[in-house]
Amino acid sequence: MNRIERTQELVGILEREHALSDEALSDLLDILEETGAERTVQIRDAIPAAVCTPEEAVLYAAARKVREQYYGKDVYLRGLIEFTNYCRNDCRYCGIRRSNTKAERYRLSDEQILRCCGQGYALGFRTFVLQGGEDMYYTDERICGIVRAIRERYPDCAITLSIGEKSRESYLAYREAGADRYLLRQETSNPEHYRYLHPAQLSIENRKRCLSDLKEIGYQVGCGIMVGSPGQTREHIIEDLRYMQDFGPHMIGIGPFIPHKDTPFADEKAGSLYDTLHLLAIIRLMLPGVLLPATTALGTIHPAGRELGLLAGANVIMPNISPGDVRGKYLLYDGKICTDDEAAACGRCIDLRIRKAGYITAMSRGDCAGFDTAHK
Ligand code: SF4
Repeated sequence: MNRIERTQELVGILEREHALSDEALSDLLDILEETGAERTVQIRDAIPAAVCTPEEAVLYAAARKVREQYYGKDVYLRGLIEFTNYCRNDCRYCGIRRSNTKAERYRLSDEQILRCCGQGYALGFRTFVLQGGEDMYYTDERICGIVRAIRERYPDCAITLSIGEKSRESYLAYREAGADRYLLRQETSNPEHYRYLHPAQLSIENRKRCLSDLKEIGYQVGCGIMVGSPGQTREHIIEDLRYMQDFGPHMIGIGPFIPHKDTPFADEKAGSLYDTLHLLAIIRLMLPGVLLPATTALGTIHPAGRELGLLAGANVIMPNISPGDVRGKYLLYDGKICTDDEAAACGRCIDLRIRKAGYITAMSRGDCAGFDTAHK
C-alpha cells in the first residue's frame, strides 16, 4: 500500500469511527510529515497560499466534510476582550509571566469592559470572551459583578471566561452570575512535559481537575494545546489527542508555540504551521462537533494561517475587541497580529478572509453542536 492509499485508509477510519489506535495515529502523522516537502495541490483558488500535498488534501477534505455536517458553512466570531495582563504565574513560554519585568501591565475597568461589549454588540458580536492572566485584583466578587452586568445588558449573548485555574466554588459562582463557557488550555497533557513548561506550583492534575469541575458545573468547556512547544514529542501529541477525546470538551484551542523574547524559551524554535493544520484536521475528525478556532497564533506564523485553519476544519475566529491602547500589551508571544487594528476594521478584515476561504461569517452565539442551552 502506498502512502496516499494508507492515508485514505486511515482518514476513512477516522471519518467513520472518530478513533484510531496510537500506532495508526502515529503512522498518519509520520506520512503527513514525510510527504510535506512539496505542496502542489491547490485547496482554494482565492487563497494562493492554500496549497497542500495529496495526503493533506485527503485529510483536509474529510475534515471540511465533517465540519460542514455539523456547522454548515458558518464560521462563528467571538469578541475577545483581554482585560488584564497581570498574572501571578510564571509559565516559561508566556510573555506576560510574572517575572517578565519588561511587560507593560494594564487592567481594564468595569466601564471599559462594558464599553468593549457595547462596541462589539453594535458590530454584531454575540459572544464575548473575557481573557486575562491569573490576576488576584479581580476577586470572585468583581468577576461575578462584571459577568452579571454583561448578562443584564446583553441577554442574547454568550459570555466566555478565560481566567485560569480557580476553585470549584469560584467556577460555580461565575456560572450562577451568567457565564456560559470557559476556556482553559492544558497546553500539554503529559505530566513531565507539563512540569517542564510550567512553574512548580502548577500541575496537570489540578488543571484536569479544573476542566472536570467546569464540565460538571455545566459550562461549555474549552481545552487545548500548543503545537511544537519545547520538549514536545510525538508521544505527547498522541497523549494530548487521547486526553481530549476522553474528556470530550466543547471547544479545543490549538495553536503553534511562538517564542517570546523575554521568556526562558526566547531562543526556542516556533511550532510549525503544517503540524498545527494536521492536528486541527485530525481533531475535527476525532471530535466532529467540537468548536475549533483558527487561532491568532496561526495567523501570526503565516499570513494566511487562519484561512488555512478554516480549510483544515476550524470553524471559529476570535477577533480582538479590546481597546486599541492596550492591544499591543497583551503579548503572550512575539509578533502577534492585529494589535493595531480597530475592532470595526478587524471585523471587516476577518469577514473577507472567511469569505475567501469559502465560508460565511455567522454573527450568532454559536453554541457547540448538540449542547443543551435550554436551561439558560
Ligand atoms: S500562560 Fe496564563 S497562567 Fe501562565 S503566565 Fe501566561 S497568563 Fe499567566
